[in-house]
Amino acid sequence: MKISPKVKLILCIFSIFSSSTSTNAFLHFFPNISSIPPSLLPNTTKSAWNTFTNLSGCHSGQNVAGISKLKSYFRYFGYISNNINTTSKNNFTDEFDDALERAVLNYQKNFNLNTTGELDEETVKQILKPRCGVADIVNGSTTMNSGKVTPPPSNGNTVAHYSFFPGRPRWPSRRRDLTYAFDPRNQLSADVKRVFANAFSRWSEWTPLTFTESGNYFTADMKIGFYAGEHGDGEEFDGVLGTLAHAFAPPRGLLHLDSDETWIVGEISGSGTGAEMDLESVAVHEIGHLLGLGHSSVENAIMFPTIASGMRKVELDRDDVEGIQELYGSNPGNNGTTGPSFGEREVSRGCRDSFMGWILLLAVGLTLFVL
Ligand SMILES: [Zn+2]
Ligand SMILES: [Zn+2]
Repeated sequence: MKISPKVKLILCIFSIFSSSTSTNAFLHFFPNISSIPPSLLPNTTKSAWNTFTNLSGCHSGQNVAGISKLKSYFRYFGYISNNINTTSKNNFTDEFDDALERAVLNYQKNFNLNTTGELDEETVKQILKPRCGVADIVNGSTTMNSGKVTPPPSNGNTVAHYSFFPGRPRWPSRRRDLTYAFDPRNQLSADVKRVFANAFSRWSEWTPLTFTESGNYFTADMKIGFYAGEHGDGEEFDGVLGTLAHAFAPPRGLLHLDSDETWIVGEISGSGTGAEMDLESVAVHEIGHLLGLGHSSVENAIMFPTIASGMRKVELDRDDVEGIQELYGSNPGNNGTTGPSFGEREVSRGCRDSFMGWILLLAVGLTLFVL
């Protein structure tokens, strides 16, 4: 039977729409951990990356089943180039080769781990953590630790690890009042929408930008939606845990979240099953991407790529604020002295400065004594 191009087009549009709506049929939002019915508790061992635990202890020169999958992981996040050691997309070998060793080393630098080049326990633990689907290294370049010429100090007081997308895309200067809208097919509740309003306000607090919800999904600057698996942009979601969400640099304005996750929209505290994710924490991070920020190696920063299950991290760190203000400037209504994580960091920096002051004084004293 021959199908006319017109009918084909209609069928195509229908299939895209029906597959998207079927994947959106069940969204997992809960006000808190104890409100999750036992029958709906996620199976954390189903995480796409759980098999990586078997690779603990692997090092260069070994050939171990599962290494090819780890290479795909590192390629996805930018640590292995798209055209290295493989002729087709999924043709990696199970050999722990030089390319993988380089990838592990750069990964360890970016995540402040010991740079052993081996899959030690700490490295595997970090690899298993749920994370953002945006790559750490884009087109071979990054300003996370691995892209820096000098190694970061080991005292944990490093700043300015924020990064931008290649070419530093940002919303143009005439666009300071931006709109966002939700995919109407998700039919999100007011509670879920409020989480995003709060997440946007974390960024408007420090910048001249304002964010307003729009009822028109098609004309809004930023479009937010929950999807499962492949959803039309080539960045497939992977079910429970693994990648949680991703967002595109300006001016594309797309923020997608994995609808297979167990999203908590209220209080995150309490003992869970290890798969509950705080929606606002992930939303604040992804909005950072929508505005032009890449990943940061500062663990306290919102733009750090991983977040543990059950963790709430919604306050911008100094690193995030410095990054976003480099793109847009500061909020004329905020004098820049508030923010809890700022206070803590000031204290740690203050201690270090006074310690250096004492060292200097001692050195001057000794010099005078010798003279
Ligand atoms: Zn990210
Ligand atoms: Zn997507």
